[in-house]
Amino acid sequence: MRVPFLDLRAAYLELQGEIDAAVARVLASGWYLAGPEIEAFEAEFASYCDNRHCVAVASGSDALELTLRALDIGPGDEVIVPSHTFIATWTAVSATGARPVPVEPDEVTYLIDPARIEAAVTGRTRAIMPVHLYGQPVDLEAVVAVADRHGLAVVEDAAQAHGSRYRGRRIGSGTTATAFSFYPGKNLGALGDGGAVVTADPELADRLRLLRSYGSRVKYRHEIRATNHRLDELQAAVLRVKLARLDEWNDRRRQVADRYLTELTGFADLTLPTVAAWSDPVWHLFVLRTPDRQQLQERLSAAGVDTLIHYPVAPHRTPAYADTPLAAGAYPIAERLADQVLSLPMGPHLSAEAVTAVVRAVGASAGLAAAR
Ligand SMILES: *Cc1c(COP(=O)(O)O)cnc(C)c1O
Repeated sequence: MRVPFLDLRAAYLELQGEIDAAVARVLASGWYLAGPEIEAFEAEFASYCDNRHCVAVASGSDALELTLRALDIGPGDEVIVPSHTFIATWTAVSATGARPVPVEPDEVTYLIDPARIEAAVTGRTRAIMPVHLYGQPVDLEAVVAVADRHGLAVVEDAAQAHGSRYRGRRIGSGTTATAFSFYPGKNLGALGDGGAVVTADPELADRLRLLRSYGSRVKYRHEIRATNHRLDELQAAVLRVKLARLDEWNDRRRQVADRYLTELTGFADLTLPTVAAWSDPVWHLFVLRTPDRQQLQERLSAAGVDTLIHYPVAPHRTPAYADTPLAAGAYPIAERLADQVLSLPMGPHLSAEAVTAVVRAVGASAGLAAAR
């Protein structure tokens, strides 16, 4: 049995009737941008996040970058980011001209450690960007407490956390703004690129609407210099179908994670993910940690189990940041994680048999390591 890392075709096939009908409705409407599907999706997603405003944009990267721009963050400013994250968190900051300032994660949760943030705050710091990595919510109260002490914005990167809960409340409210990605492989995925910002602040939402569409509210009246970052009607119509299933599909991910967590215990060389006391995660990824990752990955591959690494190189070690002082920085926790993490197959369409196959293959490989 071959176990794919994630089966996007199965996700489409389960909803084929509804998705095809939604796509046909948009095609027949003759209206493809800035129309009723976007408006309806924005209202539905804001309500899903228990928040007031949603501004749909072309990608998660746009959602992050435009939010920083809307807050007037740019050259000369600093934004605090985790040292361990997908690089798009950092590049969104860099795209504004501001400087990402990395803070190391907690070694147990792999999430930005709020206790280390204050030491990174300077006179130029404007915002903190916590990332709910792998679908695990950051300890937001602790982050907001630091932000409030220093008058900083909190812009959440929730690209991997649609529907996850922090202290019982869905991610997407309670901070300055929350950015989501609808990249196809995310928990709420479009059939292409997409993103959104959710906020309670009407002025921030208004500014985001200007920034996403040539700086204009009314056709040919351009209030600020801005380019084009719109989501289209087709993607919005598809996202409305999938939003209605998000909780159910997240529950299925939870069931897979529960089995991994109970059936993969007891191997000395394997560290399983830890769920923090405040956290109800949505398991975008199920990430193991092991000192001999390459061997485990090769054995799983030989057993027909596809795995991925999120992420193999810490952002400060990538060529993208080689010409900045960050490249010489020491972020040992991020570097260790980059060397040791391995993501098992995870998704709402992973069958019980496939989970069994993964558990057996990991058990066989980890057992071999223990016997060595
Ligand atoms: C996917 C992702 C992004 C970027 O979203 P895109 O829609 O691909 O631009 C940003 N941050 C994190 C943590 C992500 O996983």
